[in-house]
Amino acid sequence: WPLFSYYSKCCSYNRVWIPDNEEVWQSAEITKNYKAGDRFLQVQLEDGTEINYPVDPAALPPLRNPDILVGENDLTALSYLHEPAVLHNLKVRFVESKLIYTYSGIILVAINPYKQLPIYGDAIIHAYSGQNMGDMDPHIFAVAEEAYKQMARNNKNQSIIVSGESGAGKTVSARYTMRYFATVSKSTSNAHVEDKVLASNPITEAVGNAKTTRNDNSSRFGKYTEISFDQSYRIIGANMRTYLLEKSRVVFQSENERNYHIFYQLCASAMQPEFQHLKLGSAEEFNYTRMGGNTVIEGVDDRANMVETQKTFALLGLKEDFQMDIFKTLAAILHLGNVEITAVGDERSSISPEDSHLNIFCELLDLNFDKITQWLCHRKIITTSETVIKPMTKAQAVNARDALAKKIYSHLFDFIVERINQALQFTGKQHTFIGVLDIYGFETFDVNSFEQFCINYANEKLQLQFNLHVFKLEQEEYMKEDIPWTLIDFYDNQPVIDLIEAKMGILELLDEECLLPHGTDENWLQKLYNNFVNKNALFEKPRMSNTSFIIQHFADKVEYKCEGFLEKNRDTVYEVLMEILKESKFRSSLSLLMETLNATTPHYVRCIKPNDEKQPFEFDSKRVAQQLRACGVLETIRISAQSYPSRWTYIEFFSRYSILMTQQELSLNDKKQICKIVLQRLIQDPNQYQFGRTKIFFRAGQVAYLEKLRSDKL
Ligand code: ADP
Ligand code: MG
Repeated sequence: WPLFSYYSKCCSYNRVWIPDNEEVWQSAEITKNYKAGDRFLQVQLEDGTEINYPVDPAALPPLRNPDILVGENDLTALSYLHEPAVLHNLKVRFVESKLIYTYSGIILVAINPYKQLPIYGDAIIHAYSGQNMGDMDPHIFAVAEEAYKQMARNNKNQSIIVSGESGAGKTVSARYTMRYFATVSKSTSNAHVEDKVLASNPITEAVGNAKTTRNDNSSRFGKYTEISFDQSYRIIGANMRTYLLEKSRVVFQSENERNYHIFYQLCASAMQPEFQHLKLGSAEEFNYTRMGGNTVIEGVDDRANMVETQKTFALLGLKEDFQMDIFKTLAAILHLGNVEITAVGDERSSISPEDSHLNIFCELLDLNFDKITQWLCHRKIITTSETVIKPMTKAQAVNARDALAKKIYSHLFDFIVERINQALQFTGKQHTFIGVLDIYGFETFDVNSFEQFCINYANEKLQLQFNLHVFKLEQEEYMKEDIPWTLIDFYDNQPVIDLIEAKMGILELLDEECLLPHGTDENWLQKLYNNFVNKNALFEKPRMSNTSFIIQHFADKVEYKCEGFLEKNRDTVYEVLMEILKESKFRSSLSLLMETLNATTPHYVRCIKPNDEKQPFEFDSKRVAQQLRACGVLETIRISAQSYPSRWTYIEFFSRYSILMTQQELSLNDKKQICKIVLQRLIQDPNQYQFGRTKIFFRAGQVAYLEKLRSDKL
């Protein structure tokens, strides 16, 4: 980076950033001129102490930006672009000015304020509508406006990709973009369709969100919502796809976590006349809802939320008997969790015919009690010559009961999503769409299992897609267009993805093991060790464990416990098979998502969680730095500063800006030549654009300027 040459010129007054254990970086003022080759830098810290700070002459501490630049709303506008500058700028904006949004080139960085801010009203939406991104303060509405405008201007589908770790504000951001579209595209004739599109959010949150230790309203599934527009860019409907619902939560919750919200809403409504036949009680009475030890969320009224849920169902046109079927199924799951299974010797298990919960379960779902008891405690083994019925141990039977509960819930979830999609079906012909992706970010817990593996794998794919979009395509395009450009290396995560999905990679070995009659988690893990330890730098065996493996992901190292991988993978394999039958295409939902995203113009929102205590406007530098490193914000800043974010083909430029051309210019024959002459006249600084072979490349802000000239003429 150019700052080192700056050192050699060495002015008498200089401020630098030096590493700090607590704040990641601290400011220091150079008190004695630095001479090339010196091993120490004499500096004064902010608290007044003077120290001789040891330095490597080849890698001197980064310089501070002049104060006038601090607080810039686009990080790429900073003179010195490095981690401490970015971190400091975000902190000053967030802590001192209470500004949560900052651009980083094409990315919007959004820091969760953990406080309601008065910046989301309809008046603000209208203020952003029709404006250029650069003319307004950074905002989630500005990103939504940009997507909307590009859809209308270029007739191209768009997507808004919201990422960040759990609790960073993804779901809230995604909701605001949808509200933006609903508000700006409001049609007079079909007013309800926008309300319906928005109503899909509380319903999916009731059945797909839960309290975790990180977020009281954590989405336990990924969601891609496509909002459809007609020829005049009015909303005509929507469609959503969901991913990777966390099924294990239905039967198991860790300490201080809850099951899905809807169960607590239902229990809180147990005494209402319409729910009495469900024979429910408080959430404390059911195994599946009380396991986390705390059934209430501070500030959340489950009963009131049930009223909202019912209203929203009604708004979507889902009738009361349909709703009751859903509630019956949910109640049945809770009763199933309370069914008592007793051990009979070491080999067998049984359920009492008097078991009230199983009786209610059967009653609610209209099932035969004897058959259910039989199949909860026995299994059928089919061999080539015969079919045997084998009793199950108590542990096996409990497992079977929980597996049934998970199956019922995931079918119910899919069914609800399907019905919402029906309710949101287009009322006309779709012209274009804007997709909003809210998928949970990179996760690492003390114990990580198959679920975290899937989430992190999906995040690797998204990161790769981002890298491809921002870096590879940029560079390739510059080369194709003969524009001078120094290749920047960025963190390429293709090798991790190969480790997971290539031939004989982690997933293929897992699928193979699942097909073996005696496959086990341990055998599979052994194969991973044999194939990758000391052969793939991104894979490690933990020193102290024979039951887990470590993957170096783009964001962090994660240790996964192998227990349960086979069973959970069988589950998804089964679902994949079902999908294949339905669509007769072999294609997983994740790669379908990637294909969809690749065919749209992406817009990125990176949500940052500023502290782990959910404290308003509290900025924990360590945690923020960790997230900035993980999501590629820093690389993007470097690239954006040097790059040309806007580009037009000569033909596009000619037709859009012919209004700015003089008669004399227009009389020339060569259109490309005309474009060049006109642009040189309109923008004096030749560094603000580059003429490529087929396209003109503009530095940030230039197209906005041309657009302004154009609209002045109109
Ligand atoms: P994620 O989906 O990334 O896990 P959420 O979007 O659910 O996180 O946000 C977690 C919580 O943080 C929200 O319930 C809300 O309390 C708070 N929050 C997030 N974004 C904002 C915002 N823009 N303004 C105010 N509070 C927010
Ligand atoms: Mg969420």
